[in-house]
Amino acid sequence: MCLFCDIVAKKIPAEIVYEDRDVVAFKDINPQASVHVLLVPKIHMDTIREISEENSHLIFKVHEAAKEVAKRLGIYNKGYRLIVNCGEDAGQTVMHVHYHLLGGEKLGEKIV
Ligand code: 5GP
Ligand code: ZN
Repeated sequence: MCLFCDIVAKKIPAEIVYEDRDVVAFKDINPQASVHVLLVPKIHMDTIREISEENSHLIFKVHEAAKEVAKRLGIYNKGYRLIVNCGEDAGQTVMHVHYHLLGGEKLGEKIV
């Protein structure tokens, strides 16, 4: 179990904006943009290095959930950014696969 597993299991509170069978989306506790949501597969995987053909449907589900979250939060047409950090050099701090959905304002152009 990890922090995000605990959020998925509702043992730790979070501001959930979307949930389905495979994915939960909740607001980041330390937002980096006016919209900053984390999308997590309910199944624990440390990093996207564990994505394989067998579980690749989860990534599709995350992208579908991202569209729905963007619609619910009113940023679907203006656009949004999805970011995944993988491992130490990328600065991943929570070892449970998560996608950052950022938007609600003009985002910076820098990737690093
Ligand atoms: P990473 O740096 O691993 O890509 O992103 C982890 C993210 O999780 C950070 O943006 C951080 O603010 C967020 N985070 C860490 N702990 C919590 C928490 O307890 N609740 C929520 N909602 N977000 C958290
Ligand atoms: Zn986990």
